[in-house]
Amino acid sequence: MTKFSDLNLDKKVLKAIDDAGYTEPTPIQEGAIPPALEGKDVLGIAQTGTGKTASFTLPMITLLARGRARARMPRSLVLCPTRELAAQVAENFDAYTKYSKLTKALLIGGVSFKEQDQLIDRGVDVLIATPGRLLDHFERGKLLLTGVQIMVVDEADRMLDMGFIPDIERIFGLTPFTRQTLFFSATMAPEIERITNTFLSAPAKIEVARAATTSENITQSVVEFKASRRDREGTEKRKLLRAMIEREGDGLKNAIIFCNRKTDVDICAKSLKKYGFDAAPIHGDLDQSKRMETLNGFRDGSLKFLCASDVAARGLDIPNVSHVINFDVPGHAEDYVHRIGRTGRAGKLGTALMICVPRDEKNLTAIESLVELEIPRAENPLPAPADRKAKEARSDDAADKPAPKRGRRTKSEDKPEPQEVAQEKPVQKDADRENTNSRGRGRGRGRRNEDTGPKVQGMGDHMPEFIALSFEDRLSAEAEG
Ligand code: AMP
Repeated sequence: MTKFSDLNLDKKVLKAIDDAGYTEPTPIQEGAIPPALEGKDVLGIAQTGTGKTASFTLPMITLLARGRARARMPRSLVLCPTRELAAQVAENFDAYTKYSKLTKALLIGGVSFKEQDQLIDRGVDVLIATPGRLLDHFERGKLLLTGVQIMVVDEADRMLDMGFIPDIERIFGLTPFTRQTLFFSATMAPEIERITNTFLSAPAKIEVARAATTSENITQSVVEFKASRRDREGTEKRKLLRAMIEREGDGLKNAIIFCNRKTDVDICAKSLKKYGFDAAPIHGDLDQSKRMETLNGFRDGSLKFLCASDVAARGLDIPNVSHVINFDVPGHAEDYVHRIGRTGRAGKLGTALMICVPRDEKNLTAIESLVELEIPRAENPLPAPADRKAKEARSDDAADKPAPKRGRRTKSEDKPEPQEVAQEKPVQKDADRENTNSRGRGRGRGRRNEDTGPKVQGMGDHMPEFIALSFEDRLSAEAEG
């Protein structure tokens, strides 16, 4: 069995690994560290949870132990698709450079330029960045990439999803031709293949078993659900979500709830909160400090429900998640695997629940064929439509109301989704403004404000065009619906 001490890593790195409590390298580490230390390019096909971060940070620290950083010319560069992943990589560097004297800077949106500029001015050994923010610094003339000896691209397939590939190509072009490249991706889409063929030179290819086979410790189920009326789908789906959560009882310690769209992440979190559930959203439009605060709260157990988008949650190392709930069936089957892989980690038991509306059935079939499993159908915990109708007639939709102490409701709550969402706002600080808006006919700008909730800060590091499109399309569809 290979030991870390067999891998030619720097002694100080070995000591830090020991402190981290790792006893043996994971397969990706065993495969990637030796060629990386020999200065070869590496193509790692691995996803998060396999120990891939250490598979590039450990050899980098060893290789960078010699030499010194020059002003504005980082010696190495790690590109990550999201701020959280970049921050996570930075944390890894901190842990493994405990006994080494290497400097690093983190260039991510939401953190002030000034502080980062100062660090870069002095010279850093390792620069960890999201592509957009890196190019911003470069364009402001604050940074030269001609001193980069090692460049890492982490989660390349996610970069592709987020539309970062042109940025990555540009950044490759700004670094020296002689650099060493360590490139990681969970999958090899044709576009990723093209990039690796263009920018990697005779790489050592290491592929570790995909966690794509959904772990045996995860109990999966799906509730098939059809709304009573299309325009009530959002409301009824959220009601179903609450019933599903309640059905889990004490077995549910905490949960990540995935929605396909950022607007739904917000709506879902707000709705849950309104009904007394301890929930908060995380997605790319929230400012960095808020995202970190939410994530830390979820990690330390002070937040029970994390409503998330794929991009925000992908790759995050959050141990001890008892439940993953797919509020929407993901559009890409692989995202299902990534999502539910947040639970059942390290041999623990986990539960993955999902809601499937009729138009998502195709996606459900695609997931089932990817994971080679028929996901068991769970019963809808809510009364059947006929019973429900009778009940609703009796109680005037009382079942959809939260506990009275959580704010007054008005007649308009029974209206289609956008109105319901607007009504869910009174729990927000700026409720007054939004209530005023909700009196309008709901077209154009006023309605847009209602639907998107409190003003978001920034648009992530770089907002790919397709996100803007789906955002707008959906809002106008709702405004018209
Ligand atoms: P990653 O795939 O880089 O996100 O790593 C997933 C988790 O595995 C992180 O919590 C690491 O701290 C942990 N880890 C990395 N390498 C090892 C190792 N050799 N032994 C045990 N845990 C590890």
